[in-house]
Amino acid sequence: MQVPFLDLKVQYAAIKDEIRRAIDEVCDSQQFILGSRVRGLEDEIARYCTIRHAVGVSSGTDALLLALMALGIGRGDEVVTTPYTFIATAASIARLGARPVFVDIDPARFTIDPKLIADRITERTRAILPVHLFGRCAEMEPILKLAAEHKIAVIEDAAQALGAEDEHGRRAGSMGVLGCFSFYPTKNLGGFGDGGMIVTGDSSLATTLLALRNQGSTSKYRHFLMGGNFRLDELQAALLIVKLQSLDQWTQQRINNAERYNALFHERGLEHLLRLPELPKNERHVFNQYVVRASRRDELSRFLKSRTIGHDIYYPLPLHLQACFKDLGYKENDLAASEQAAREALALPIYPELTVPMQEYVVDAIQEFYGGRSS
Ligand SMILES: *Cc1c(COP(=O)(O)O)cnc(C)c1O
Repeated sequence: MQVPFLDLKVQYAAIKDEIRRAIDEVCDSQQFILGSRVRGLEDEIARYCTIRHAVGVSSGTDALLLALMALGIGRGDEVVTTPYTFIATAASIARLGARPVFVDIDPARFTIDPKLIADRITERTRAILPVHLFGRCAEMEPILKLAAEHKIAVIEDAAQALGAEDEHGRRAGSMGVLGCFSFYPTKNLGGFGDGGMIVTGDSSLATTLLALRNQGSTSKYRHFLMGGNFRLDELQAALLIVKLQSLDQWTQQRINNAERYNALFHERGLEHLLRLPELPKNERHVFNQYVVRASRRDELSRFLKSRTIGHDIYYPLPLHLQACFKDLGYKENDLAASEQAAREALALPIYPELTVPMQEYVVDAIQEFYGGRSS
């Protein structure tokens, strides 16, 4: 058997007719830039995130950049964030001339450890940028409290977490002042190319974002800000509207798959060799990734490859040790929990259409690798 890490073709086959119809409608209209579909998707995403405003943009990376720009963050400013994330989280900060200040993670959930943040806040700190990694919300309550005490902003990197909820039932993206999403094809709501969205409850920030994404302008040839071309395509929005109708069903399938993996690994007595992701009772973890911590991870990775089982490593090198950030002056062992996660983490296939026999095949192979007790 072959088990791909992600198979977008199965999903496409199920919605192909609707997608082709949506493409035709946009082509027939010849309206490609900032039309009714972008507006429609913005309305639907705002409602989905239980928040007032949403602004469609060109990617998740640009969502982060524009969120920081909208707050006027730049040279001399500091933004506290996690080193255990995709590069865009911190590169967006650095691109604006501000300094990413890395705070280590809570090993149990892979997200920024709120207990370590207070010590890193200075008079230059303008924002905290937590990442809802793998589809689970960061521990937001203490982060929001700290930010309120210090009168600094919280920007949520919710690229992997559309539809996730924290333990108070609050949707990812709706808790901070700005929330950033990505429609990169591998995210839970993936487009047919690049795309992103910023949500906010603040209408003046929403106006600023509308301008920043479109040459600093909200009326033709009047530019009140220095913006750029960060627009979401009409075609992309039309296709995302189709896919959004199935998101909750796909998310439920991801959750079911995660529960099934955990049950199977427990049945085989493998839960000590593979630390399994938590299935938090009072939260909605949307499992963009199912990430275990594996002993002998790199050996296991080679073994899975030999069995044609797709898998990936998120993330092999934490951001504080990346060459592009060497000027920040971090060194090995500075952020030990992130470095340990980078050595142990292994993502297994979790996409909605993954079948039960495929999951059993993955679990069987891992059991064989560790020589665990047979089922
Ligand atoms: C995917 C991702 C981004 C960037 O999104 P793009 O649409 O690829 O630019 C940012 N942060 C995190 C955590 C991501 O997973």
